[in-house]
Amino acid sequence: MREKGEPVAIHELRLHNTLSGKMEEFVPQRAGEVKMYTCGPTVYDYAHIGNFRTFVFQDILRRYLKQRGLKLTHAMNLTDVDDRIIANAAAAGVGIREYTEKYAQAFFADCKAVSVEAPEFWVRATDHIPDMVQLIERLQKKTFTYGSEGSIYYRIAKFPDYGKLSKIDLTGIQAGARVDNDRYEKESARDFALWKAPKPGEHFWETEIGPGRPGWHIECSAMAMKYLGETLDIHTGGIDLAFPHHENEIAQSEGATGKPFARYWLHAEHLLVEGEKMSKSLGNFFTMRDLYEKGYKPSALRYALASVPYRRQLNFTFDGLQQATSSVERIRNFADRLRQGKFPAGSPANMKGRTAKALEDFDAGLADDLNTAVALAATFDFVREANIAMDNGGFGQEDAAAAQEFLAAVEQIFAVVKDNDAEKLKELGFGGVEEAVTDSWIEEKISGRQAARQRRDFAKSDEIRKELAEHGIILEDSKDGSVRWKRK
Ligand SMILES: [Zn+2]
Repeated sequence: MREKGEPVAIHELRLHNTLSGKMEEFVPQRAGEVKMYTCGPTVYDYAHIGNFRTFVFQDILRRYLKQRGLKLTHAMNLTDVDDRIIANAAAAGVGIREYTEKYAQAFFADCKAVSVEAPEFWVRATDHIPDMVQLIERLQKKTFTYGSEGSIYYRIAKFPDYGKLSKIDLTGIQAGARVDNDRYEKESARDFALWKAPKPGEHFWETEIGPGRPGWHIECSAMAMKYLGETLDIHTGGIDLAFPHHENEIAQSEGATGKPFARYWLHAEHLLVEGEKMSKSLGNFFTMRDLYEKGYKPSALRYALASVPYRRQLNFTFDGLQQATSSVERIRNFADRLRQGKFPAGSPANMKGRTAKALEDFDAGLADDLNTAVALAATFDFVREANIAMDNGGFGQEDAAAAQEFLAAVEQIFAVVKDNDAEKLKELGFGGVEEAVTDSWIEEKISGRQAARQRRDFAKSDEIRKELAEHGIILEDSKDGSVRWKRK
């Protein structure tokens, strides 16, 4: 049996690499270590569920690499300077740091609520202007750049590998057409800005390459290489970033270093809402907070976003969210039953063997390009069979210990077993003023009720049951005299 907390790495890990267009065995540059970069949010508004589809996928990847015993160094950026931020901050009459701080903090809180772990490095663009300037200078020395009206552009004609990630056909992009929303003169429409000259009244930095602000793409190249080295193991993002953003990151980094920038590129597919593209004009645009407002729990949201494998389009529906709520409840009820049940000694029907198989199937799913649907199916098959074995007296104490270990492995990845929705909602300012009902408070109440029953004080015992019910706690008395409880 697997020891408590031991890594799970039963199967070879295979990932779909956008760069090769194929499934590949994942082999890090240095055995046992992974350097990973993920493109984070632009902090000019609250993140929406489409953004979080990608962040939850990245979190599952992160957690799974760690579960396999790999030492992970993960950096994620916050884009806190771009055209919209500059315009919005100016309109609000505040500095860009002040403007973005509110949304950066909201993003951290939103991540915490859906158990998206913090990376080893959160990196803000505005803290790394000198790193970006240095990278642009390196590119200047190698003649990858040209200046125009105070801005600096990347000359794509100088980088023949351009397009190798997204396989984009650039012949269709006419000279003079606009790809990058740049309002400046360029040699070729494909070229993109590394450094943008300030317009009157705009925020800018005074630097060795002149006054201005960085382009979006240079941020990620500069910060990724600063924290993770010139060649990363994994770079991830949403599929909409593959072109032009990630293509430009490759052109910048590989132009400067002459080395491969990232060895595995992973991209998450889009999210649809009730079968349609999410947009404010269609009225189907939701932030995470909009859904908490409607009464959904963070765990249900995380489950709904995690349960569809990342390379499949995720059709987000309210039916699906309801199903996610029930699935989470089913796992939690099973965890409660395991924790509180009284089981006969040993492993009467060899459920221990069944648990080992469940873990193997769980790992097989995740090792196959993070197929979360297979991993969850393995979990629920096991829960169903274990519940039946418990009903029939075929589930023993040794089985319970093995099942606890299995659930711990599930929790390491999916993070929905532990019931802390009430606390999380409270932290975000939802769910009223009532103190979160803790497990220890509930268990204290239950033992009080047990004592009342033993002295045949049924009025008192009923009163305690009612008090618990008012806090959403339901009791189930079992034949052997023990009591199980669950949250409604
Ligand atoms: Zn990026």
